[in-house]
Amino acid sequence: MIYFDHNATTPLSPVARDAWLEASEESWQNPSSPYRSAARVRNRLEAARERVAAVIGAGEPWEVFFNSGATEGNNSLFSYFSRKAGASHTRKGRASGAPVLLSFVEHPSVREAAQFYFPGRVAYVPVTADGRVDPAAFERKVKAISPLLVSIMAVNNETGVVQPWRQILKICRSRGIPYHCDASQWVGKLPCEELGECDFLTASAHKFGGPKGVGFMRVSPQWDDFHGLVGGGQEEGRRGGTENYPSVAAMTTALEEIEERGFAELPQREEQRKEFETAVKEGLPGARVIAEDEERLWNTVSLFLPGHENHRWVTRLDREGFAVSTGSACATGSKKPSHVLDAMGFSAGDVRHVIRVSGGWETDESDWSGLARAIVEIGKRGDSDGDTSLTEVISI
Ligand code: PMP
Repeated sequence: MIYFDHNATTPLSPVARDAWLEASEESWQNPSSPYRSAARVRNRLEAARERVAAVIGAGEPWEVFFNSGATEGNNSLFSYFSRKAGASHTRKGRASGAPVLLSFVEHPSVREAAQFYFPGRVAYVPVTADGRVDPAAFERKVKAISPLLVSIMAVNNETGVVQPWRQILKICRSRGIPYHCDASQWVGKLPCEELGECDFLTASAHKFGGPKGVGFMRVSPQWDDFHGLVGGGQEEGRRGGTENYPSVAAMTTALEEIEERGFAELPQREEQRKEFETAVKEGLPGARVIAEDEERLWNTVSLFLPGHENHRWVTRLDREGFAVSTGSACATGSKKPSHVLDAMGFSAGDVRHVIRVSGGWETDESDWSGLARAIVEIGKRGDSDGDTSLTEVISI
């Protein structure tokens, strides 16, 4: 199978696997335990923190702490701010009505966490037809509503559209508004050294060759009472629970491997993606690339394909040996139409013709050209026999 669903998850990189095995064999002790072998694990954990902090350009290692990934980090953020808003409610004797501000294309772990912890107090900034937040519209919105917190992602997981997070950060900073960046799709794909400037940053290791169920969060020192999970006091009280050092070691190794490889080949990667897009558009009349002219991640293509609905495209491509997805993996499971494409003005009918293709560092030119050929052939064949249902595919 040729894997084109890296935005859903990535295979564990061989160096991360080695790091995980070694740490599980040699460094399995609880870092909080009071003997030398545990102290060694503690030291290694702290070294990993330093390494992650260096990659993201955080000022001090302790600004970074480890958790189970972006969903946890995003939930922790809103739960923390809702407690803070609750505290101000008691002190001032009135509800602090300031909303939290998101874009319409945030991942459900941001959108639903915001709605859960701030019921009735979530405001949205729209995106353009190409799925990008317009900084001028964002600034107007911020002026109008003075939000308590802004959360806007670095890169969209469905379209690969890069959001103007640096400008958003600047606007927030000039107004003293805390800014959270969900960088789940940026980390491990693009240079990270400026990300540590965001007040809050969340990411998951499995999006960049690390294990599933581990990630990190950066919190600016200003928020020194930040806490996500309570109980146990680990991670300076910011995330209770025995530290998962083997997974942290694997994540850190995966991240450093990418940093060491560097990003010099990005233009070439982008070129491969563009050649794929051209081959599909030329071979299959009616095929379109979504947000084609927008700045997009080198690995992601959101494709409108004519003829079959997207689940049929997915099952047919699966049969030809290619793993692609409809929208995001979460949206595929729930069968809900993509809120991202909806926010970009797509009709429900059009949304059902969109697939997401996302390559990885190990994807090469022949993988891209093979996928383009398969799409064009399936499109030309136009048959409808013997489809596996989407539900069957998901349960495999
Ligand atoms: N944010 C974004 C942008 C994502 O793409 C994902 C994963 N699809 C998440 C958050 C959640 O990551 P996880 O499932 O690892 O917690």
